[in-house]
Amino acid sequence: MMTKTCPCGKSFVASRSDARFCSSTCRSAAHQGRLAVAAAASPSDTATALVEAVRNDLRLAGCVDTALGLAALELAAAMGRPGCPPAAMPGLAKQLMLTLEAAKRGTATSAPQALRDELARRRAAQMGGAS
Ligand SMILES: [Zn+2]
Repeated sequence: MMTKTCPCGKSFVASRSDARFCSSTCRSAAHQGRLAVAAAASPSDTATALVEAVRNDLRLAGCVDTALGLAALELAAAMGRPGCPPAAMPGLAKQLMLTLEAAKRGTATSAPQALRDELARRRAAQMGGAS
């Protein structure tokens, strides 16, 4: 017994060493050229856009490099993976939202000193320019 990855993105336990597909549906789809094998290798545009949106959000909040920030990015990437079952989407979306909120809350309550200094510098510069 060995675990393999079907072109659809799903992991499955192969009963034969030459098995390539998780199901007969995938096998016949592949034979008919309907299974997007290439799509499994690179995430869709939507998936990339989602990850980018999350990254932007985190960057604005200053928490892209925190553990929670990275977890949120990982969740966004998981949602866009071609093999991700549609049934898992609501759970992932909810988890992503909670992680994103937690990541932002984390920096709001304990903003790093460097960020506070930077904000103070900007405020000072603004006041100087206005007078
Ligand atoms: Zn499959």
